Amino acid sequence: MVRPKKFLGQHFLKDQNIAAKIVDALVLPQEKSFVLEIGPGMGVLTQFLVKKENIDLHLAEIDRESVAYLKEHYPSHSEKIIEGDFLELDLTRLTDQNIYVIGNFPYNISSQIFFKVLEHRSQVKQAVGMIQKEVADRIAEKEGSKTYGILSVLLQAFYDIELLFKVPPGVFFPPPKVMSAVIRMTRNNRDHLPCDEALFKKVVKQGFQNRRKTLRNALKPLNLPTQILSLQQMDLRAEQLSVEDFISLTLQIEQAGGVRRV
Ligand code: SAH
Repeated sequence: MVRPKKFLGQHFLKDQNIAAKIVDALVLPQEKSFVLEIGPGMGVLTQFLVKKENIDLHLAEIDRESVAYLKEHYPSHSEKIIEGDFLELDLTRLTDQNIYVIGNFPYNISSQIFFKVLEHRSQVKQAVGMIQKEVADRIAEKEGSKTYGILSVLLQAFYDIELLFKVPPGVFFPPPKVMSAVIRMTRNNRDHLPCDEALFKKVVKQGFQNRRKTLRNALKPLNLPTQILSLQQMDLRAEQLSVEDFISLTLQIEQAGGVRRV
């Protein structure tokens, strides 16, 4: 047995039915696919994943004790265990195939996992993950809500997000302090944004930096052209803009000459 370590966000899922349900949520294509489990721990999801046909399963686990456990219980996959920090993992060196990510994610780094997925979105076709319900809500939320934010806009620009089901603390050992939820994110057909992506990110991040201010005030540090500042949209707050609105605003900023240097 692996001793749960708090600093690694270890909360082991005890409920076999929920584990099976999470694995079933991964939608794989007919052809052999590359699946990467993040933080398998003692393998509660792994046991169902190894039974699936047509998958090339890899496991990324940082905890030495869990790695030893997995090697003992899944000797057929010992070569497929990547011992180390998922956040440091170079996915392009792992495979040139599409990657399907799954895991009961370590909650202390769940946002960072999503930023990493985003960075490697040309490879990551789908991700099914258990996270804090609060983070799941933030990711899945649409404009107009208080929890809609940077991660929601950036992820929704490239992924379709589905909040699948909630999971109570009691089914974990040790139980976390918060409710959990399972989400599925599937790449949409948008390969590239129709606008400059770096500028898009800048506008989104800056806009939400002071989410209670109007965009006119929140975006001041970007030193935008006056014709942009006079747009009616600038009276709104970032949380009122949809992904499409952010894209069209970025396009307008580009067409007006972009962000001026000071
Ligand atoms: N999947 C298991 C464990 C979930 S707990 C279960 O459902 O029971 C989170 C797991 O992520 C732990 O095994 C922890 O060791 C691992 N982990 C934590 N940080 C990690 C990181 N940066 N990279 C890879 N794995 C990590």
